[in-house]
Amino acid sequence: MKKVVITRKIPDAGINLLEEYFDQVKIISDGDFCNRKHLLNEINNADALLCLLTEKIDKDVIDAGENLKIIANYAVGYNNIDLEHATRKGIYVTNTPDILTETTADLAFCLLMAAARRIGEAERFTRAGKFKSWGPRLLCGQDIYGKTLGIIGMGRIGTAVARRGASGFNMNILYYDTSVPENLSFSAKKVELNELLTQSDFISLHVPLVDATYHLIGEKEFSMMKPTAVLINTSRGPVVDENALVKALQQKILYAAGLDVYENEPEIPRTLKTLDNVIITPHIGSASIETRDGMAEMAARNIIDTFQGKVPEQLVNRDVLK
Ligand code: NAD
Repeated sequence: MKKVVITRKIPDAGINLLEEYFDQVKIISDGDFCNRKHLLNEINNADALLCLLTEKIDKDVIDAGENLKIIANYAVGYNNIDLEHATRKGIYVTNTPDILTETTADLAFCLLMAAARRIGEAERFTRAGKFKSWGPRLLCGQDIYGKTLGIIGMGRIGTAVARRGASGFNMNILYYDTSVPENLSFSAKKVELNELLTQSDFISLHVPLVDATYHLIGEKEFSMMKPTAVLINTSRGPVVDENALVKALQQKILYAAGLDVYENEPEIPRTLKTLDNVIITPHIGSASIETRDGMAEMAARNIIDTFQGKVPEQLVNRDVLK
């Protein structure tokens, strides 16, 4: 008798698949949080865990799951999981790449456009009944077409954002990455981080959260950006030093920002919520109905494959096979 634990309710597409294969599929919470105590209890006799990025799957959780064969994350980023410890214990860790790439790139570009054209501020202005007349200078923002877009982390999502900029908006693309992307369908120039920061009109972050990317963008980096620059972050909050970001926005060192992720989610600094030159969304990068269904199926499929003796397709810790 095999048991799968799901930390919080995911779309039915994934749950139905799992219920076809497993005797027991236990969903811990259908609300906004998974109680850690419940998780530690339920994982005790579980064979597989399907978790969300909102749960910290640390050493204690992993050790409590004595029979655990796989941790299937319902996200592409897996900084919420102690990967090394899972690998040491021979547990597969999987994620949900590719399926969410275009949806997340759509959101990043949406934030880019909204921040440049002051859409959040304009919407608040209109709703407040302040629209009295068309005005030559009313809510003027920055042009997007033909500008320079700097991508930090030219992986799957970074490339998809750059493609939108290059082919849809005739933007010049600069990128900074520690590896070389393959087969780009548009022209893009690889540069050092400093050059990207000083040359770009728009800077979009797409690196994973790892030690090397923690606070990659801070006070020094903001001081190098153009005063008309717009920063977009749909990667992970701690990639940006949030205090430095607030200061840069307040002091107009940075023109505007579009943010989907925050350092201490779900908390957002009060000042950030009061600034007009920032547009904020609640970590909804991959939030389309189709994509979330697809992610649920992918996570479920990784679990099923594991118990059918296959190596799950989206295995992250390949060292576990050694
Ligand atoms: P990916 O692995 O395809 O791309 C990441 C890129 O960053 C790679 O090209 C890698 O070489 C590069 N990189 C890694 N470390 C670097 C460093 N120190 N300096 C420069 N470049 C570095 O990943 P992806 O599928 O494009 O996803 C990127 C990230 O986006 C995820 O890790 C996740 O945290 C985030 N994400 C957020 C949402 C959301 O809802 N906002 C949705 C999906 C993904």
